[in-house]
Amino acid sequence: MPEPSKRVRSSSVDSFEAVRGRSLTRRYVSLTSHPGQSGVQPRALHWGCNDPQVRGPVVSSVHDAGKRNAIGVNGGAYGVYRALAIAAGALNPTKKPNFANTEPAFPIGPYDTWGDAKKIVTMDPWGAVAAQVFSNEKDLEVLPTIAITKAHIDIPEIRDAIRAGRLKPDGKILLADGSINVTKAAIEPVWYLPGVAERFGVSEAELRELLFTETNGSYPELITRTDLKAFLPPTGGQTAYIFGDPATIPDVNVPLTCRVHDECNGSDVFGSDICTCRPYLMHAIEECVLTAQKGGAGLVVYFRKEGRALGEVTKYLVYNARKRTGDKATEYFNCTAQVAGVEDSRFQAMMPDVLHWLGIKRIDRFVSMSNMKYDAIVKSGIEIVERVPIPKELIPADAHVEIDAKVAAGYEGGKVYSDVDVTKTQGRAGKDFGI
Ligand SMILES: [Zn+2]
Repeated sequence: MPEPSKRVRSSSVDSFEAVRGRSLTRRYVSLTSHPGQSGVQPRALHWGCNDPQVRGPVVSSVHDAGKRNAIGVNGGAYGVYRALAIAAGALNPTKKPNFANTEPAFPIGPYDTWGDAKKIVTMDPWGAVAAQVFSNEKDLEVLPTIAITKAHIDIPEIRDAIRAGRLKPDGKILLADGSINVTKAAIEPVWYLPGVAERFGVSEAELRELLFTETNGSYPELITRTDLKAFLPPTGGQTAYIFGDPATIPDVNVPLTCRVHDECNGSDVFGSDICTCRPYLMHAIEECVLTAQKGGAGLVVYFRKEGRALGEVTKYLVYNARKRTGDKATEYFNCTAQVAGVEDSRFQAMMPDVLHWLGIKRIDRFVSMSNMKYDAIVKSGIEIVERVPIPKELIPADAHVEIDAKVAAGYEGGKVYSDVDVTKTQGRAGKDFGI
C-alpha cells in the first residue's frame, strides 16, 4: 500500500483513521436506491429553466446520498480515483471541498441557450458558477463541473509561423516570446437523459436500459431511479480554448474562427505521422490567432473522444490491421468497422452543446472538413459561413490515406482534394517499420 499522505494524517490522524476504517469495513452496502425510500429526497432539478434557483443545482456528491439528483459521480473517467485515494489513506472520506478563490477567471454567460432544455443536454451550463450561484443551498454540497481559467500556451508550430512571417506578435494575443494568451474552460460531461435520448431518436427508457446493460450493470439507478434525470457518465470531457475576447463570441458582427477537435493523443502530443490531427489542430490555432488579432475571437474545443471514441486500444488494433493489409484509402473505414463493429462512435450530435453554452450563433471560419461535424452544428441552429480545409503542405506523407479516404467518403470540406484518385492512395507498408 502506498505511504499515506503525511499532511492529511498529521492534521486529523485519529478521526481520519477512524473514518477511513469505518468506510473500509462498512457492513451494509446499498446496491441501489429507489424513489420514496427512507432518506431519499432528491433536490428538484428542472433542466432547461433559465432561472438557476428554479432549475436547481446538479447534486452528485457522495456526501449528499439522499439528496442527489444525478446518477454517477463527478470527475468523468477520474471518478474512481477518489475511492483509490481513500484506500491509499491519502483522502479523508468525510473531507468536503473548499472552493474559495476557484471562481471563473472570466465570466461566460448566461445566454438564452442556458434556458433551452434541447440546446444543451450533455453539460451543465451553470457548472462553472455552481459553487457561487447555489451557495444559498447550505445543506447541499454542490460540485462545479466546469472550470474557467487563463493561461499562456507555447507551441513550436506557432513559433514556426512567426519565423515564416505568417504571424506577427502583437503583445496582447500573441506575445513577443511566441506564446499565446488564452482563456480556457474544462468541462465535465453531465447528461440530461431525456435530451440525450431525443438526440439519438430513442425513448428515455430505451437509453437507460442500453446504458445499464452495456456497462454490465454498473449503474443500477439508471433502471431503479427514473426520477433522476441527470447522469454523470464515466467518460472524458472537453476543453474550450478561447483566443481573443470571449465576450465577443456571441456577437454575430464580430468574426469567429472555430475548430472542434477530437482527441488523438498519438498525433496531438507525440507527433505520430499517420494522421493529420496535430497539423490541422495547429493550423486552427494559427487561424484563431489571426482572427483574434483582427478583433474577433478564436475557439478550439478539444473533445476527449480518443480513437473516434472507441479508445486508443481499438485505434492501435486498427493501425495494425491497416498496415498488414496494404493500408489502402479505400479500406480505411472498413478496417475500423472490422475491428470495432462500427466505423465511428463520436456521434457529433452531442458536440454542439458547448458552442451553445458559449452563446455562438454564427461561425465565420470553421476549420474542419468533416461533414458530420458541419451537419451537427448547422442542424443545431448555428450558421457556418466558410469551411477551412487543411493546407496540402501540412499533410504528413503517410496521412494521405486518411485524408483521401475522407474525401472519397464525401467530406464536402475536402473538395479541394477532388483531384485525388483514392483507389491509388496507399500508406507506408507495415513491414517498413516492423509491423
Ligand atoms: Zn489522429
